[in-house]
Amino acid sequence: MENLRFQTEVRELLHMMIHSVYSNKEIFLRELIANAADAIDKARFLSLTNPEVAQDWEIRITPDSEAGTLSISDNGIGMSREEVIENLGTIAHSGTKAFLENLAKSKKEGEAQANPELIGQFGVGFYASFMVADKVVVDTLKAGEKEAVRWESSGEEEFTLGPSDRKTQGTTVTLHLKADEKQYLEQWRISSIVKKYSDFIEHPVKMLETRKDKDGKETTEDRTLNSQKAIWLRPESEVKPEEYEAFYQHLSGNMGKPLVRINFSAEGTSEFKALLFLPERKPWGFEMPGAKAHNLHLYIRRVFITDDCKGLIPEYLRFVSGVVDSSDLPLNISRETLQDNPQIAKINKALTKRVLGELSKMLENEREKYTNFYQEFGRQIKEGAHGDYSNREKLQNLLMYETMNGKPGELHTLKEYVTAMPSEQKEIYYITGETRAFLENSPHIESFRKAGYDVLFMSDPIDEWVLESIPEFDGKKLVSVSKAKLDNESKVAKELEENAKKASEEKGGKDLIGKLKELLKDKVKDVKFSGVLTESASRLSGDDYDPSPYMQRIMKALDKNAQTFKRILELNPAHPLIEALTKLVEKSPDNPKLGEFAEMLYDQALLAEGSPIADPALFAKRAAALMTLGVEKEI
Ligand code: ADP
Repeated sequence: MENLRFQTEVRELLHMMIHSVYSNKEIFLRELIANAADAIDKARFLSLTNPEVAQDWEIRITPDSEAGTLSISDNGIGMSREEVIENLGTIAHSGTKAFLENLAKSKKEGEAQANPELIGQFGVGFYASFMVADKVVVDTLKAGEKEAVRWESSGEEEFTLGPSDRKTQGTTVTLHLKADEKQYLEQWRISSIVKKYSDFIEHPVKMLETRKDKDGKETTEDRTLNSQKAIWLRPESEVKPEEYEAFYQHLSGNMGKPLVRINFSAEGTSEFKALLFLPERKPWGFEMPGAKAHNLHLYIRRVFITDDCKGLIPEYLRFVSGVVDSSDLPLNISRETLQDNPQIAKINKALTKRVLGELSKMLENEREKYTNFYQEFGRQIKEGAHGDYSNREKLQNLLMYETMNGKPGELHTLKEYVTAMPSEQKEIYYITGETRAFLENSPHIESFRKAGYDVLFMSDPIDEWVLESIPEFDGKKLVSVSKAKLDNESKVAKELEENAKKASEEKGGKDLIGKLKELLKDKVKDVKFSGVLTESASRLSGDDYDPSPYMQRIMKALDKNAQTFKRILELNPAHPLIEALTKLVEKSPDNPKLGEFAEMLYDQALLAEGSPIADPALFAKRAAALMTLGVEKEI
């Protein structure tokens, strides 16, 4: 016998379980049956190549009123001593981890008591036993091994490990029920919980039931409590919505209803049945690096193969949960080579087409539902638009953005943008930046606003990256307003161009440009009069292939030493400041103040587009000095 301490997080979790006020404690049985079924799936998979492991698979529930215990037993894969320590002493399960993270978060936010309903939402696996038991004993023998192991704990600091006299492969979890949880010894209670949560479990969940016959004599009957019907093989009309819901919850670990259910039966080059669900919301931790979904289960002719088949569905659709049951793949396939199997590629293609088809339909017919979906999973759609070349067009049609002329929060598709374009507008304009407020005040969009054009607002860092693969849409180029000029056809453009041309031909203008080029030669690659600005005095623009200012900010955030691209300083000839500067250069070309003014002109152009400036303190000092003049004038 040996005493081992639980990992700190487990101690914390167990403490919660023991003192839980969660109203739905019955889910402990769902969790234990799911573990038993997984263990059988693993053993059955092994038996495909190693017939010695084969069994009449079953999960058995045994209530013992005298001892006050409830045991859940399986003849699955079992656990070795090391596995017991690893699995029942630390936290392996992602749902449990997510639960704890959520707990830590709510503590930080000062909520005195974590919401106990979260337990059901995340599913806390094996440890849920301690909501109803004050002692749990696990006897387990790993398939193929000789020594069985006994794990025992009252859920406090430690657990005990020792030998077990179990002789057959598999695991028995025995719960010593708390005094006030003895309801779980009652047959009707047990069978109704199994029916409710575990009906579709493929393996029989059995219980020896005692009944009184008509003469009052006790008889026993071994009964299978679940229907075991593979829900994805049953005709849709025969399955109740609650059954689909329970199955979805079982697979995805989410609560509530799925957003969309897809029943899919493919014939022809690839034969399979699929039952897929799209969730309403992002599961907890979905965006975390390396997060794995494990929600799409691959079966081959009703035999569970894996919940981690790479290539079964594209990465970007990892929010899809469900079951794919193939009739073409060989049962003895190795999990390692699965992803290279051409059948998997065919299934992938068919599933992708179907899911994208459903989304297009939703966008067309149920706008609000789609918008809600997009708010949750828009990033994944963008990821697809960038990477999935074969479905590029479909994915581009599913993209949505806010726009300059639209209301904040309102999303528009590219198609809608194009349809609303005035006839003389030839290109699609966009601007990238941190937030809408940022973008709305950017000098880059002034002339577009004045011309009555719309501009797509892109405020997700991944937009920049996605744009690389959308050079054009519907035959129209996508251009950043930080580089673009207005279409020459527009009246506003002609006027502005004219002003810029005039200014640069005049002597005063030429002198100003020459002076600024000289003073800012380390900072900008060119200075010129702008045919774009209507309100601001200046802006910084780039050449076609320069990264946008937002992209440069992202690059700098990732790498302090990232290359700095010199920009072009554009001046608004009609702005009073530029007019005044022209005069100053004309009058005293060597005025010592000119250097400072040139730098400020450059800095405020950076600030206006949301880029950082090299020396904010110096800028503030200079601004204060200028303000003093302004204030004095008011006195
Ligand atoms: P989860 O099952 O979600 O991973 P649990 O905390 O319920 O999380 O279980 C942790 C691990 O313990 C499982 O992943 C599995 O490896 C192992 N385990 C639990 N129950 C059994 C069982 N009946 N047979 C074999 N292994 C089991």
